[in-house]
Amino acid sequence: MMRLLTFAALLVTVYSRDTFKGHQVLQITPKDEAQLAFLKELEDILELELDFWRRVTAVSCPVHVRVPFQFLQFLKPLMESKDISYFTMVDDLQAVLDEEQKEMELSACAQKPLNTESFNYSRYHTLSEIYSFQDMLAAENPNLVTNLVIGQSYKGRPLNVLKFSTGGTNRRAIWIDTGIHAREWITPASGIWFAKKIVTDYGRDPILTDILNSMDIFLEIVINPDGYEYTHSTNRLWRKNRKLNPRTNCVGVDLNRNWDSGFGTRGASSNPCSETYHGPRAHSESEVKSIMDFVKTHGNIKAFISIHSYSQLLMYPYGYTRNPAKDQAELDRLARKAVTDLGSLYGTHYRYGSIISTIYQSSGGSIDWAYDQGIKYSYTFELRDTGRHGFLLPSSQIVPTSEETWLALRTIMDHTLKDPY
Ligand SMILES: [Zn+2]
Repeated sequence: MMRLLTFAALLVTVYSRDTFKGHQVLQITPKDEAQLAFLKELEDILELELDFWRRVTAVSCPVHVRVPFQFLQFLKPLMESKDISYFTMVDDLQAVLDEEQKEMELSACAQKPLNTESFNYSRYHTLSEIYSFQDMLAAENPNLVTNLVIGQSYKGRPLNVLKFSTGGTNRRAIWIDTGIHAREWITPASGIWFAKKIVTDYGRDPILTDILNSMDIFLEIVINPDGYEYTHSTNRLWRKNRKLNPRTNCVGVDLNRNWDSGFGTRGASSNPCSETYHGPRAHSESEVKSIMDFVKTHGNIKAFISIHSYSQLLMYPYGYTRNPAKDQAELDRLARKAVTDLGSLYGTHYRYGSIISTIYQSSGGSIDWAYDQGIKYSYTFELRDTGRHGFLLPSSQIVPTSEETWLALRTIMDHTLKDPY
């Protein structure tokens, strides 16, 4: 009887997952101001439940948007009548998600890894698998890795940060985070790979060895554990955290609009139903405040790198203002070197520049905050790809993406080591 109940509960869990049956992802390119204005209008009508994977920015810049089935029938003829050109990037979104899910289920049947050697780096992992990976890595490398808890998520999950240190007290340090936006699965998957790479290469790779002999590295693989868990259990395309907002059914705050850097200005939404809702006030979210407190208390963080997907970009401040960062020339040179090194492995092409000039105005972002705290080497990545798979990057690309990104990260860390300030 008990077994049957468990089975029934399992069925409920499986079938309560949100479905995206009939949804398509379209690429739409506005060719003049009128078309741009039309798309901007669409973006503001939250009732249409359009999910912009790449937001509306400027004439000739492609927009990626997930369109629910019921609205497709209406939107496509409407765009044709307005002579707006588009093509279907993902024809049957649910089929892609089913495929990914099938892969997850297969790997769930595999034997649980007993150590980080047998861990599968070319699969996406659940939150509990990531937690156990972090525990194993720290246990295997007691002289190099500590698993810190810097706070708790909204739902009470631990916010873990891996500290890589070869000694000293409060050394100059590098901050790296992945997984701030829940659906950007390639980023925590890369974070896991970076963690393993650091312990493997220390003592072997002279560049990394030099870095770790005088600096510490902090790596938070899942900034947004509640959101990440939700992308596995219920809605693969969830972005925000899972905070219940008062007086509305809309859940969640965009953790990359919640920082005290132009908070609440253009480039974030005050509507809790929006994907870019900035929250009630700056640092209102424990996932954000925990990092802010940690960075401030530490006081010696010299590089702050926050990793997102997708679009293949490397960007530096600012996102909230057009005023150039005072170190723009140096940040730009270093970005160019980093993307060149990244591209040297598989030829992956990255664009680089300030956030506002490279993608769009966005306020309340983490690297703007870090930069305004005096952390000069503040960067954000948007990893693979440029839209072919978007957030649903096949797991076969996890390792190559991590390998190439590591080259850019190492370049930024090396520069931070050699150009002390
Ligand atoms: Zn993101």
